[in-house]
Amino acid sequence: MQQFPIFLELRGRVALVLGTGEVAERKAEPLRQAGAEIRQAAAFSPDLLEDVAFACGADAPLAELEALSTACRARGIPVNVVDRPELCTALMPAVIDRAPMTVAVSTGGAAPVLARQMRQRIEAVLPPGIGRVAAMAERFKAAVRRRLPDLAARRRFLDAALSGPAADLAMAGREAEADAAFAAALDRADAAPPGIVHLVGAGPGAGDLLTLRALRLLGEADVIVHDRLGCEAALEMARRDAARIAVGKTGAHHSMPQEEISALLVRLAQEGKRVVRLKGGDPMIFGHAAEEEAALAAAGIPFEIVPGITAATACAAATGIPLTHRAVGHAVTLATGHSRHDLRGLARPKTLLAIYMGLARIAEIRDALVADGMDPAMPAAVVEHGGTPQQRVLRGTLESVAAEAPGWAGGGPTLLLIGEAVGQAVPLAGRGVPPTPTADLT
Ligand code: SAH
Repeated sequence: MQQFPIFLELRGRVALVLGTGEVAERKAEPLRQAGAEIRQAAAFSPDLLEDVAFACGADAPLAELEALSTACRARGIPVNVVDRPELCTALMPAVIDRAPMTVAVSTGGAAPVLARQMRQRIEAVLPPGIGRVAAMAERFKAAVRRRLPDLAARRRFLDAALSGPAADLAMAGREAEADAAFAAALDRADAAPPGIVHLVGAGPGAGDLLTLRALRLLGEADVIVHDRLGCEAALEMARRDAARIAVGKTGAHHSMPQEEISALLVRLAQEGKRVVRLKGGDPMIFGHAAEEEAALAAAGIPFEIVPGITAATACAAATGIPLTHRAVGHAVTLATGHSRHDLRGLARPKTLLAIYMGLARIAEIRDALVADGMDPAMPAAVVEHGGTPQQRVLRGTLESVAAEAPGWAGGGPTLLLIGEAVGQAVPLAGRGVPPTPTADLT
């Protein structure tokens, strides 16, 4: 180990900043954030060191910085001088502040830029709410000590509790529920822990369109109950030893009836499992979330919903078709084209229609829209596997797309986009975006 990391308590104490330029200001800022009283000067004099807990220097003549370093060493005050490792007895790390949790990264002065890059990567995987988990642990510190005087038992309990339902709730900002869950867990500290279900959106089927929260939960799950459609890429990023249960339908497989899926989620959570219910796109859009929520609530199981990128936004981004448009797109309708549903009343002016599960019934959809008064020449597109590397696009009019799509489709999930805004798409080709096979019927 190059240096020993340590966290300084600076609240109410004096930090000396020698120098007055931009770099000095950058050094002063985190010290201020840590509660230090900043004493700043352009030139060094020994009386500046009175009551100083930490000193740093930048933007000052070398002779001044050397004097600062020498005086600090003599008095045992940790000192940092920017870009002068030989004058330092302390390094200032790149900091990730998730108060009360702090992460500090240092390359021992070798490459501060690299430390900053590492900080960004750590920040991305460290949920912003992690500080709330630490704060919750602090609130219960005394109670946990009383209930579990044995150190090993305490560790075991905290290990489970700080990655369990109470932690998830704290992370989501639901403090009262988190405290209740933590208190309940502490009550039955000797019994098996209760489970939790996360209804997680997997996005359109590209691994890097997952949210960071989804990624974290996939890494912590005991069981993943997943749709067959659109979840493969997300599953690859899940914890290796998590059990996987496929429940959605694809061609050959019948899907498990919805009541059975709901009952399965309840049973797994009652066994104390951390369950991820992984669904394509966003769980709240044509995803039967309501049924599953109702079953979990009825059984008293804690659950959380994690949004995902839905097919409509994924397809819009991938094709350059704006879902709304200042002149011609004032509303968006997300509709299902599934055969049980009525298609009347969908055609409205300046409204973009995004129809899920509509390909099989595209001729009927065209007829219903035209009967409602839509122009058969209305711009339309069909996007298959939108947002993934297999994406394909068919562009044309309501009329031409309805005629050609059944023969064009390759069997993947497809979304229909119909409306004037479809005609406003900015071509993405030639802008550094990988080309999408596109059939243009216009
Ligand atoms: N909850 C999902 C939708 C589930 S319904 C979401 O928010 O996206 C399944 C339908 O979604 C498919 O039949 C198809 O119409 C659409 N769909 C899902 N993924 C898609 C994709 N990558 N490209 C185009 N359409 C998609």
